[in-house]
Amino acid sequence: MGSQEVSTVDWQGKRVTVAGLGVSGIPAARALHERGALVTVVNDGDDARARTQAAELEALGITVRLGDGATLPPSTELVVTAPGWQPDKPLFLAAAEAGVPVWGDVELAWRLRGDNGRKAAPWLAVTGTNGKTTTVRMLASILEAAGLRTAAVGNIGVSLLDAVLGETEYDVLAVELSSYQLHWAPSLRAHSAAVLNLAPDHLDWHGSMEAYAADKGRVYEGNTVACVYNVSDPATEDLVREADVEEGCRAIGFTLGAPGPSQLGVVDGILVDRAFVANRQKQAQELAEVSDVNPPAPHNIANALAAAALARAFGVEPAAVRDGLRAFRPDAHRIEHVADIGEVAYVDDSKATNTHATEASLAAYDSIVWIAGGLAKGATFDELVTGAAKRLRGVVLIGADRALIHEALTRHAPEVPVVDLERTDTGAMSEAVARAAELARPGDTVLLAPACASMDMFTNYNKRGEAFADAVRARADESA
Ligand code: ADP
Repeated sequence: MGSQEVSTVDWQGKRVTVAGLGVSGIPAARALHERGALVTVVNDGDDARARTQAAELEALGITVRLGDGATLPPSTELVVTAPGWQPDKPLFLAAAEAGVPVWGDVELAWRLRGDNGRKAAPWLAVTGTNGKTTTVRMLASILEAAGLRTAAVGNIGVSLLDAVLGETEYDVLAVELSSYQLHWAPSLRAHSAAVLNLAPDHLDWHGSMEAYAADKGRVYEGNTVACVYNVSDPATEDLVREADVEEGCRAIGFTLGAPGPSQLGVVDGILVDRAFVANRQKQAQELAEVSDVNPPAPHNIANALAAAALARAFGVEPAAVRDGLRAFRPDAHRIEHVADIGEVAYVDDSKATNTHATEASLAAYDSIVWIAGGLAKGATFDELVTGAAKRLRGVVLIGADRALIHEALTRHAPEVPVVDLERTDTGAMSEAVARAAELARPGDTVLLAPACASMDMFTNYNKRGEAFADAVRARADESA
């Protein structure tokens, strides 16, 4: 089994420091305690919630230190950290100095898999700046259609640790991995993995684009069958080249164009495979039609090809790829078609919280009334606006940093009408939709793709998307 072998650790009496009382820290502390480790949880915060959680863990015999996540407890042999903790924290510097290894939640799940006597399922891993959740869910849908016992795990649905230690036995897992999680997962060895795309994101955490890319690239380390990369994003192929993989592991590209040998791509509206066929010089295998992808926007066809490549690497038959893609339903607020009113389509892509995602979203429609704005998180909008200018019927801007988008529009698309909404109250989204409807012509798409975070006006992107959909449905009811 080579690198897929299950590693066993003797936890009895091992002194483990768990950094962070949170969604990953609490189950990690419990799992290690159950295995006989001497666990100390350290946490920066010391609020009422942390105290309640601490009391529950202390009742089990776990030590918890609140209000100090910086100091490494003496004689720590291993640190298990929440993925979001920044690598330059004093706790990690102290660990490095003392030669103590640091694992994240993914590394822990990887090391614990199979230790409950159940089968250790191989992992098909997906990372990238955008499209991870969608691709992993498409992949799980395809694997299910092939009759395999599987789950989409990671940042979505089931946590990795639960999937690995729970009652259910899996044949294979479709795993979403963030750059933070990969940073802290030194020994992870996926069966096959895909990097969907690489655009600057989270650079404050990683320190630089190089460090961010290097952490993403870890997903390819030790792959046994396929490293899947994006032909139109050469940085992803560079990461494959730099990775140390198992003998015989192949680089497989996906492209929206016609595929070369060892690639998956699109020919005349058909998703085709020229990688996992007997003769890839001469042969191409039909997998599905573009119309089987939901929604069939270009970036989403790319996601489908990446999911198909991983499934094919695992030996899944073409028919299951088609059936899995047909059965797939996108998550809410990801290019979600809400309604058609008077020949205008209303689409909710509230999840487009950065410019890279919004660029993909805007590329999916020919004539758009674009609703955008919110918290820019340091982004600039010149490139985004330049690329989309021709397709913009009009723009409605909301939120704290709308002036930044307005300035970019003035510079690069001065002829496009812009409505600037100052109000930030709960009725603001209704007004944004009303103003967008005034700008729209038959055949247009009103697209909420904010290119910004939502927290200036909404609790999160879900609430922002719901506010949009509610406003659209109210109009649809009125016009019915
Ligand atoms: P992630 O899990 O990486 O955040 P999601 O699948 O949740 O990705 O999609 C987030 C947003 O990114 C979507 O709203 C969509 O607009 C955009 N998106 C999805 N796939 C891609 C892609 N392949 N390239 C660029 N943008 C994408």
